[in-house]
Amino acid sequence: MPIAVQDELNVYESAEARFETAAAKLGLEQGLYYYMKYPEREVTVYIPVSLDTGGIAVFTGYRVVHSTVRGPSKGGIRFAPNVSLDEVRALAAWMTWKCAVVNIPFGGAKGGVICDPAKLSKSELERVTRRYTASLSDFLGPERDIPAPDIGTNDQIMAWVMDTYSMHVRQATTAVVTGKPLDLGGSLGRKEATGRGLMICCNKAVAKLGMKREGCRVIIQGFGNVGSEASLLMHQAGYKIVAAADVNGGLYNERGIDAAKLYDWVHGQQRSLPEFPGGEKLTAREILFRPCDILVPAATENQITSENAHRVDCRILCEGANGPTTAYADPIIEKKGIFVIPDILGNAGGVTVSYLEWVQDRQGFFWREREVNEHLEEVMEHSFDEVVRYAETHRVGNRIAAYIVAIDRVARALKLRGFYA
Ligand code: GLU
Repeated sequence: MPIAVQDELNVYESAEARFETAAAKLGLEQGLYYYMKYPEREVTVYIPVSLDTGGIAVFTGYRVVHSTVRGPSKGGIRFAPNVSLDEVRALAAWMTWKCAVVNIPFGGAKGGVICDPAKLSKSELERVTRRYTASLSDFLGPERDIPAPDIGTNDQIMAWVMDTYSMHVRQATTAVVTGKPLDLGGSLGRKEATGRGLMICCNKAVAKLGMKREGCRVIIQGFGNVGSEASLLMHQAGYKIVAAADVNGGLYNERGIDAAKLYDWVHGQQRSLPEFPGGEKLTAREILFRPCDILVPAATENQITSENAHRVDCRILCEGANGPTTAYADPIIEKKGIFVIPDILGNAGGVTVSYLEWVQDRQGFFWREREVNEHLEEVMEHSFDEVVRYAETHRVGNRIAAYIVAIDRVARALKLRGFYA
């Protein structure tokens, strides 16, 4: 393991470790290795914002572009108190590999602002977003760098990004950002896309392992966009959701939770998830260790670590979050024979429909939801097959296989482009 044990929770180190393993297996030449290891650009901006109380606060924001080799860079913007440059760097690299795994013509980027959106009023949030976008406007664009939502951001924030950028370039430019509201060039199916993509991967894994979808026990950690849409769709498809959790805590019921009612409880009635009637209350961390067939960590990074990986009790681990498993936990999970659907494949449904949104914006013609979902299904199924085929022929785990597929695609594009000296 190339990383020091005290750095286990540094996601950048985790991302690096997988990249290094995959690059070595691929026999990647040294020059290409260094080219792909480092980001193309890292921008830090300090964002002065007038507060409703009258004062001014200065927030720190980042935008890291890891790669534009295969096309304009793509990746979300995260608003959270614990955002760091290392985290944004790792997430940017993961976007490069994710877009390459599903073979969409984008590179990778990520943005973040250190702030707690829950503590900001709507107008403060708007000012943070607009000033952050304005500071970066020279670097953004439908052919340059295209943001999207991530933790702590949503479609309204994307609408403000679109408006601010459009005001700067003096023309309405919907394709500069994805995950927008439907009234502003958003795509049908985008909201559900990450959860749907995740379910498509689970369907494939279940079929591959000869399991049955009906009654298959699923635990989902995280009830934000990814976790709640995945719970709902999987519940409707016959899976049995036995546990769910959000920041307030978790809920476990071996007889199954009605995810449609839970969705309404949390998002409709705005009530606390663990208070949902009919289940045992647990911490969000503890639900990861209950027995199940499919475990879906869809909250945040570093949930499954070398300390606790031995307690995971599932047949399929499908990662909805980015980086929920540390590199140190990988061999423990692998030894247990768990079938892993790695984050760069498992949660790639979101960016895939972002790509479809960008295509629709640029052609000015919008598709029916069925068409969007069909495209998504085709992309996800094909990508899943590619990763599994690679894992089997090269005798590596699915995670390293996914990295190899991705790195190989970026390396091929890089060789074709050559280096502009
Ligand atoms: N934030 C999402 C992700 O991590 C979506 C990114 C996008 O659509 O550009 O994949």
